Amino acid sequence: MPETPRLSRLSDLADSTLCPLLVIKVGSALLVDGQGARRQWLTELVAEIAAAKQRGQKVIVVSSGAIALGARRLGLDKGGRGSLADAQAAAAVGQIALSGLWAELLAAHGLSAAQLLLTLEDLEDRRRYLNVTATLTRLLDAGAVPVINENDSVATQEIRFGDNDRLAARVAQAARADAVLLLSDVDGLYDRHPSEPGATLLPVVTGVTDDIRAMASPVSGSGMGSGGMISKLQAAEIAELAGIALAIGNGTKDQPIARVVEQGIATLFLPRASRASAAARKAWLGGRLRLKGTLIVDAGAARALREGASLLAAGLSGVDGQFSRGDAVAIKGPEGAVIAHGLCEYDASECAALKGQKSAQHAAILGYAPRPAIVHRDQMVMV
Ligand code: GLU
Repeated sequence: MPETPRLSRLSDLADSTLCPLLVIKVGSALLVDGQGARRQWLTELVAEIAAAKQRGQKVIVVSSGAIALGARRLGLDKGGRGSLADAQAAAAVGQIALSGLWAELLAAHGLSAAQLLLTLEDLEDRRRYLNVTATLTRLLDAGAVPVINENDSVATQEIRFGDNDRLAARVAQAARADAVLLLSDVDGLYDRHPSEPGATLLPVVTGVTDDIRAMASPVSGSGMGSGGMISKLQAAEIAELAGIALAIGNGTKDQPIARVVEQGIATLFLPRASRASAAARKAWLGGRLRLKGTLIVDAGAARALREGASLLAAGLSGVDGQFSRGDAVAIKGPEGAVIAHGLCEYDASECAALKGQKSAQHAAILGYAPRPAIVHRDQMVMV
């Protein structure tokens, strides 16, 4: 398959050939202020989305703002984030208003809004993930604009994304998008805290390294959303694993997309490897957030995994955690560093029983026909 030209500049985000599918994430601080929803600003953004559709691009929106908007309507303090119960109640009220607004403003351009409320599990469970992918593909082919948020009213603490930055990156992965644009109230990533003298905006970052992570400030500037720069960098990493570009730009001004795309005020994260080398399945695996256990392997197995082999029981030296067959686990080398993530073919107790054993003994140990590997190479991604 010939490699398609790669998106490499911010202006490519508006190019229907280089970026046929764009995910736009809109932060709470842009959508809601002291008076309620920022209707005028959203009207302008929706006009820009309609223009992108006119150019032949498909667009998925990930919209925050439900909690902030609902909290205003219910009169809850701390923007509805004082407790989980407040946030869940606020989201239930805010989400209706938010969806209504998107639907109304998109309809003014003849566009249908399609609401999807997702929980972490919807993108973690392989079958549900594939379902989300199929629904999004169908909606986009039918010309609709999916407007996605986390299902905040039902997602409990342990099963929530918590921030829409990572949700946007995971949605991009599921929909096989070409780029993600995170619109918030910051210009992008600065090389040090933006309030420090001499802080410089980084225009392009290729690969999220430790040096890049060290530049991020953990708090959300507005205090309204849940994401700070850290969650944005995590989103950039998820996108990178999937071979997807991600831009962080300041949406506070009018016509935010044009400001980012045409004036180039933003940080563009480019993946090191092209999408062709990151199969969708592996991308999904690499972005999984909840690992259920750990497999420790010996030096020989660690080397074999790096060369592309499956993990065999003979190289397994330790098992940690309670996990079932099909769960995602971390694979650590003998020094304790995580070298891979994978879907385990056995549950934790079977792994413990097979640890260090040659294949010939497996049937007798298990009492049934063994599988070819503990973690198959196709279900594994090196980290
Ligand atoms: N899902 C939350 C909301 O709609 C926003 C999460 C975030 O701030 O990233 O209010």
